[in-house]
Amino acid sequence: MCGIVGYVGCNLAYPVLIDGLKKLEYRGYDSAGVALHAGNSLEVYKKEGKVANLEEYVYGKNIQATVGIGHTRWATHGVPSDRNAHPHLSNSGGIAMIHNGIIENYAQLKEELVLKGYTFKSDTDSEVLLNFIEDIKINNECSLEEAVRIALRRVVGAYVILLIDTDLPDTIIAARKGSPLVIGIGENAHYLGSDASPMLAYTKEVVYINDYELAIVKPDELILKNLGNERITPFVQKLDMELAAIEKGGFDHFMLKEIFEQPQTIFDSLRGRMDATIPAITLSGIEKIKGKILEANRIIIVACGTSWHAGLLAEYVIEELCRVNVEVEYASEFRYRNPIITDKDIIIAVSQSGETADTLVAIENAQKQGATIFGLVNVVGSSIARMSDAGAYTHAGPEIGVASTKAFTAQLAVLYLVALKIGQLKGTIENTLFNKLLEDLAKVPEHVQHILEDQNEHIREVAKKYTDARDFLYLGRGYNFPIALEGALKLKEISYIHAEGYPAAEMKHGPIALVDESLPVVFVATKDPYHEKIVSNIQEIKARKGMVVAVISQGDEVIPTLADDVIVVPQIHEIIAPILSVVPLQLLSYYIGLNRGLDVDKPRNLAKSVTVE
Ligand code: GLU
Repeated sequence: MCGIVGYVGCNLAYPVLIDGLKKLEYRGYDSAGVALHAGNSLEVYKKEGKVANLEEYVYGKNIQATVGIGHTRWATHGVPSDRNAHPHLSNSGGIAMIHNGIIENYAQLKEELVLKGYTFKSDTDSEVLLNFIEDIKINNECSLEEAVRIALRRVVGAYVILLIDTDLPDTIIAARKGSPLVIGIGENAHYLGSDASPMLAYTKEVVYINDYELAIVKPDELILKNLGNERITPFVQKLDMELAAIEKGGFDHFMLKEIFEQPQTIFDSLRGRMDATIPAITLSGIEKIKGKILEANRIIIVACGTSWHAGLLAEYVIEELCRVNVEVEYASEFRYRNPIITDKDIIIAVSQSGETADTLVAIENAQKQGATIFGLVNVVGSSIARMSDAGAYTHAGPEIGVASTKAFTAQLAVLYLVALKIGQLKGTIENTLFNKLLEDLAKVPEHVQHILEDQNEHIREVAKKYTDARDFLYLGRGYNFPIALEGALKLKEISYIHAEGYPAAEMKHGPIALVDESLPVVFVATKDPYHEKIVSNIQEIKARKGMVVAVISQGDEVIPTLADDVIVVPQIHEIIAPILSVVPLQLLSYYIGLNRGLDVDKPRNLAKSVTVE
């Protein structure tokens, strides 16, 4: 959450910053702002709302600076407003700072500063840290770099901070703990960002900054140090990403583009890892911890949000195919509830960004207690990827739409491979089933392509009927239950319609009380051995005059006679079917959100890459 950018170079900084902020807007859009060096002073421009508001506000101003920092906010402390927007200026006006994260002990620091006469223009925790740094700089008569180092020793919380100082006209000072920071190396220029997207147009050489590192960045020099003031050699990596991957490419929204990319992204996540003709699976991450897996008593999947739904499906699949105990945990609960972990536990951490704060700390704790960590993340080089003992990337490419779509199906694809591989290693899966599942998995990209081609227009029409609904229920059984949860989440995120996902049989224990002629109930009802059960559940809803939309398998002749609307997906083994069923639900949410006139790429209150707890 929150996007930060910085530029030090010989060209004008403002266009680089504003362009970078637009690329990072998926991380927060409560306000946006920039601070730039202007001779002996600092210029700050900031506005509540999206980056476009800032751009409009700055329009026509002649900004000549070649050094600056920029921020797009996801508010944690203080309402979204001009006043609380970053960058903040220190009391002397000599230092400007942007911050991503939360300073947990800000109240105590603020009290101390107030006693010394400091005043605050915002309600943010960030402005407190900034003035704390300034106070140290003044009292110790030290450099900004030294003041930052001293200040951070007292800070509790998570941060990436970028600072500019009137005393250092060609320098940005940066530091991180718990939030991501990438520095791109250009020609006589450096680019800073929460991820690499703001610098893609200028350079492919980047350095990922680690926790407790501090960077002193000038046009022609990048100095990295630890908080003990020792130099660290920057590890320069080549970015394997094209600019086109972070542009809309003719689609109206990133979300739609990303839904339509799924045949390719699922293919990419399977590519090189499976061969249905041999048949075989190659997953070096699993091979690496093979011994631990064979000895494991338990697999714990730790995740948040949509990734948690992928984890839930993986629980069903791994238990079925590998006959090992699997638990799925919300990272935020897991990390605070003192779970019993041993060195016989394997933790699978699932996160699109690889930066999810709760997941990161949860696995850090589990690792300390001896567990083996397998990271399943999308963003290459991200924190979770770096701290895992082994892992696999999902290879979905950059996901910009705030509501996750292609990252989810890529997670499912890789989790299927993980389950099949472990089942094979343990000898718990029969060859015929292994072969069949691999064969069906190989067909998924093509099937998703057909769903997109054949059902898109139909789903757009179906969406029109339900756009004004006040509530939705999503029901599914077995492997389809996690997809019911994901469908409901997607609708909530994009359309702001209240939606609940439930195991279909559980509806009788409560939710059925909600059913009347105004309630749409979405059934994820592809063919499986319990098909008649879900058909009965549909009957039960119809008997109470609810409206039924059902995602069904091709060839199902029963449900079309009962449901108000059906969306057909290809028939495939029931273990693999969920990766298909979710696609129509993504489209349904998209069109309902669109019909309601909402910004589907940037739903209110949400942001991507949740780097705060
Ligand atoms: N805690 C800071 C604020 O509320 C930074 C939030 C962010 O990461 O955007 O302003």
